[in-house]
Amino acid sequence: MVKDDTRIQLDLVSTLNVDKILLGSTALKYERELNTVFVDFPETLKAGRIYSIDFYYSGNPQETGRFGGFTFKKDSSGHSWINSSCEGPGALVWWPNKDQWRDEVERMEISVAVPNDLIDVSNGKLVGKTDLGDGYTRWDWLVQYPINNYDVSVNIGNYVHFSDLMPNQVLDFFVLPENLDRAKLQFSQAKPMIEAFEKYFGEYPFKKDGYKLIEVPYSGMEHQTAVTYGNRFENGYLQRDWTGVGVSTKFDFIIVHESAHEWFGNAVSAADVSDMWIHEGWATYLESLYVEDMFGYEDALKYTNGYKTKVQNRTPIITPRGLHREPPQDMYFKGTLFLNTLRNVVNDDKRWFKLIRDVYDHFKYQNIMTEDMVQFFNQKTGMNLTPVFDQYLRHAAIPTLELTFDESNRTVSYRWKADEKNFAMPVRVGSKSQWQIIQPTTEWKTMPATLNKDQFDVATDLYYVNVTKQ
Ligand SMILES: [Zn+2]
Repeated sequence: MVKDDTRIQLDLVSTLNVDKILLGSTALKYERELNTVFVDFPETLKAGRIYSIDFYYSGNPQETGRFGGFTFKKDSSGHSWINSSCEGPGALVWWPNKDQWRDEVERMEISVAVPNDLIDVSNGKLVGKTDLGDGYTRWDWLVQYPINNYDVSVNIGNYVHFSDLMPNQVLDFFVLPENLDRAKLQFSQAKPMIEAFEKYFGEYPFKKDGYKLIEVPYSGMEHQTAVTYGNRFENGYLQRDWTGVGVSTKFDFIIVHESAHEWFGNAVSAADVSDMWIHEGWATYLESLYVEDMFGYEDALKYTNGYKTKVQNRTPIITPRGLHREPPQDMYFKGTLFLNTLRNVVNDDKRWFKLIRDVYDHFKYQNIMTEDMVQFFNQKTGMNLTPVFDQYLRHAAIPTLELTFDESNRTVSYRWKADEKNFAMPVRVGSKSQWQIIQPTTEWKTMPATLNKDQFDVATDLYYVNVTKQ
């Protein structure tokens, strides 16, 4: 208990039945209000103590949300194929829990009984399976790290298993039999992907629980240590060139993006859905880091800038806190463009890579808010990056570099137009072959210009900014 009380709040969708709730052998009273279950205790539960209850519930989960929430489907050979994926609607659509982001379950046992001809793949390490003698087999999984509620998953199907080996790690793959050959080819991308992320951020964060990639009927989800995959065993994203610049066809977007979440999303997690860019902006940035490691910096820069066509800049990436309002898709695309901008603000790649490694190490297995990250960046860089973070994450518009040329005096005046009053950010300008770094603020400054208005360039591939010239 966090504080002394006689009542706790749990969440469970109203369409599922609560059968009984027990404290030891005592049946507890409860009250249901929409998707909430208030549980009352006969005496005060004391702060700091751990209590356990048994919550019995039943019913048939309804399909909901982008990936179905909890779905009962058939595969092409007629076997049941049952999967959960509930990030949007919340885990309450299929199991009772404290459905919020701030406080994660530290450890979890998941036991799922399925017909003998099917298997269940859930999160964590397989502890064992037990034939229950009634035509069902129980699969027991153990999660040994903190886990987001929405990451908890079941994947029940007629799966076949194969694996790949890393020096200190087994990668386990589960697919439908008809896709085995294609999967063996496509999933060979998993090992170099993990190796790439380990170069940047150190050891895979859930080593004891393992890494699994599981075929599902929807596009994919970052279920911790049980990453789900539905990208048709083809490169790109659902057979498209995802950022439209010829780079994403070189790799499987879902393998890379969803697995990147093991580092950002699952190991480093946001404490409120308002700050979900910590999951999605970072995972999208990790795609670019993967591209940089596998195919080189030029491709990575091209790939990142390809995301510009998807950004809308209509509402801020960070939504009001506490309302459980999911941020706009800009959290992915603008999120990665912002981090690429920040890299160039730091302007020292060695320092940048050390910095993002430090951010990861510092916040690993924690649930944080953007403020925590900003404070850490400020402290490590000695810069005041707060107005930069705020402009990109808490306002709809990106900064505009305003340039005014005085051809007769051969000068150029410059300033940032931004919502943040104290916005200040260095930027590379002049000629591509020999950039010059200037330090604009929101006040006009003037400098000599040897280039005229048409020749004068701004490194907009490196900084996600608008430019006006007059
Ligand atoms: Zn994602």
